[in-house]
Amino acid sequence: MRTLVMRGKPVADAMRKKIEGKIKAAEKCGVKPALAIITAGKDPASHVYKDRLVKLTESLGASAKVVILPGNASLEQVLFEVRKLNRNRYVHGILPTMPMPRHIDGRAVAAAIAPNKDVDCLNPKNMGEVFSGESTWAPCTPRACMAILKYYGIKPEGKKAVVIGRSNVVGKPVAMLLLKENATVTVCHSRTENLASVLKTSDIIVAAVGAANFVKPDMVKNGAVIVDVGINAVDGGIAGDVDPAAAEKAAAFTPVPGGVGVVSNMMVMECLCRNL
Ligand code: NAP
Repeated sequence: MRTLVMRGKPVADAMRKKIEGKIKAAEKCGVKPALAIITAGKDPASHVYKDRLVKLTESLGASAKVVILPGNASLEQVLFEVRKLNRNRYVHGILPTMPMPRHIDGRAVAAAIAPNKDVDCLNPKNMGEVFSGESTWAPCTPRACMAILKYYGIKPEGKKAVVIGRSNVVGKPVAMLLLKENATVTVCHSRTENLASVLKTSDIIVAAVGAANFVKPDMVKNGAVIVDVGINAVDGGIAGDVDPAAAEKAAAFTPVPGGVGVVSNMMVMECLCRNL
């Protein structure tokens, strides 16, 4: 059986064309979309993410506004910046990099973002709409997972799908999006018993665990479809949540790197331009 490698680049490239078109059209009307990114502290992963988003935003012809706060900034200071950006009519999207420093309540920050500028769907109002099935809107990484499946012609309808992970940014919303596409969805987490047997009977596996090579070959049914969300630092490189030997048993899988991440970043841009 030949395994389809579901690379993210063609998916992101197809999105790029549409986004650039929207930005050009907006510019003709005197509007330049701007993404504001708020980072507090020195978390290296947050700074790498911020820098990537700035580069991508500018490469598309939009502008990026970066707000960097010290690691000892108070919650009030962060909220002050968010509210200022909410009021700024030249800012179209707001993205606080998470996690914020430990003493800052990320949920309070998320709730302060104006829903129409909330590019990663962090505000509970936007998230609630994902759970009620009313929204086509959802956090960027879950939407990236679904866009990849769609691009490669994989239809979740009627399939048994399992999501490993139940975070608010990935696991839960991707489960809701799969459900919306009529998959039969199971969500696994660290307290799940017999996780391997759940995986073994699943047609679609979405791994969002945060543990390198967690999904082993004996957990995967031959011919399953695997979406690997994991980004784990290993020996100076990065690895996904799925062991490459497990991916080989699949009919299709997303590589790490080069899979979900690249589409996820482009989703931020799509969201930035959604109201143009
Ligand atoms: P998270 O908040 O740490 O959630 C991890 C989830 O995995 C939790 O629900 C946890 O269960 C579950 N889990 C941990 N150990 C497990 C085990 N032994 N068996 C079963 N479930 C287990 O992480 P996240 O933010 O969702 O991110 C997940 C991964 O995706 C990370 O590697 C992250 O870097 C990556 N990520 C990638 C992108 C991208 O664009 N590609 C974007 C966001 C995140 P409990 O709830 O029971 O603790």
